[in-house]
Amino acid sequence: MLIYSDFSLKEANTFNIDAKAAIYIEIAGLDDIENFVRKRRYFEMPRLVLGNGSNILFTKDFKGVVLKNLMKGIKVLNEDDEIVTIKASSGEDLDGFIEYTLKNRWSGLENLSSIPGTVGGATFQNAGAYGAEVKNYVTEIEYYDFEDFTLKSIKAEDCKFGYRTSIFKTEFLDKVFITAVTFKLSKKFSAIVTYGNLEERLKEFAVLTPSIMRRVITAIRKEKLPDYKKLGNAGSFFKNPEITKAAFEKLVKDFPDLRNYPTENGGIKLSAGQLIDICGFKKPEEGARIGVAKYNALVMVNLGGATGKDAVNLMKQIQKAVKEKFGIKLEPEVVIC
Ligand SMILES: Cc1cc2nc3c(=O)[nH]c(=O)nc-3n(C[C@H](O)[C@H](O)[C@H](O)COP(=O)(O)OP(=O)(O)OC[C@H]3O[C@@H](n4cnc5c(N)ncnc54)[C@H](O)[C@@H]3O)c2cc1C
Repeated sequence: MLIYSDFSLKEANTFNIDAKAAIYIEIAGLDDIENFVRKRRYFEMPRLVLGNGSNILFTKDFKGVVLKNLMKGIKVLNEDDEIVTIKASSGEDLDGFIEYTLKNRWSGLENLSSIPGTVGGATFQNAGAYGAEVKNYVTEIEYYDFEDFTLKSIKAEDCKFGYRTSIFKTEFLDKVFITAVTFKLSKKFSAIVTYGNLEERLKEFAVLTPSIMRRVITAIRKEKLPDYKKLGNAGSFFKNPEITKAAFEKLVKDFPDLRNYPTENGGIKLSAGQLIDICGFKKPEEGARIGVAKYNALVMVNLGGATGKDAVNLMKQIQKAVKEKFGIKLEPEVVIC
């Protein structure tokens, strides 16, 4: 177990914010977690489990212990002609895991290709993309409970998964370390093509396979999302807001071009990116350190040397402008720390 003090988190978050952790501990297995909890001096400090840091905004130095998740391993638990049940350690890179499953011709996760987080981070927030969400493929989650020092597991149906949320982001917040996630994948491919322009982009293929889906989705994402290695960001900064049908019908009279998507519970989901764009945020001031991406206003980008405070200021300006123009409060999707 490696322990560092006064550790720079700049390379450990995709926003590329230069914050420091008072203590930074690399966790490569359950033994390391157990070792950590025995060190009372560290255990009593505030703590943060960190995956790939792709959904987090550090607004200040973290005056506690960052537990960097490096737990690796993939194990097939069960397999028949149709289904494979597979357990992945939470520190596995989600995209690498997806690639592995597709190479083995197990489908399900292809639409989540290219999300730059860990398996644990994706489960924490029920990551989703192109009509698929992690919750649709997860059966069980194993976690270490810091309150009673035991390893437990919880069934997916008890995880209160919702739009970019779960029990881990709410009731269990700061109390547990997700150690492994079990997925149920299929040997029979059933494509989800109904999201955005996916169907259009897939037309050139006479036969669809999970690997083709992965390739096309990865290509679309490259066009739509800035590369965080060049322009620090944490993906969608805000959640897409959901409003009632009645509120939408009122709003659309003033803004007839608003993109809208009916939801399962009878509401209407709007595009937060479009609302931000209409408010004029795509043109950053000369020399600004923070802004929104030119081709996707939902993504806040570090234009160079931005601090967490710069990002929070811009977040507040965006929230104020959207509230004033549309009467809608945008909620951040990223974890603000
Ligand atoms: C370019 C880009 C594109 C993105 N696209 C998408 C997208 O399409 N869909 C989407 O949903 N997200 C997207 N994201 C956001 C992000 O990649 C996902 O939310 C990802 O699942 C976060 O995983 P992580 O390991 O990086 O989590 P981190 O950022 O490291 O952590 C996020 C939160 O999860 C908690 N956490 C992480 N691991 C654990 C664990 N093992 N146990 C307990 N808590 C844990 C942390 O404490 C923190 O609160 C994107 C981000 C970027 C930069």
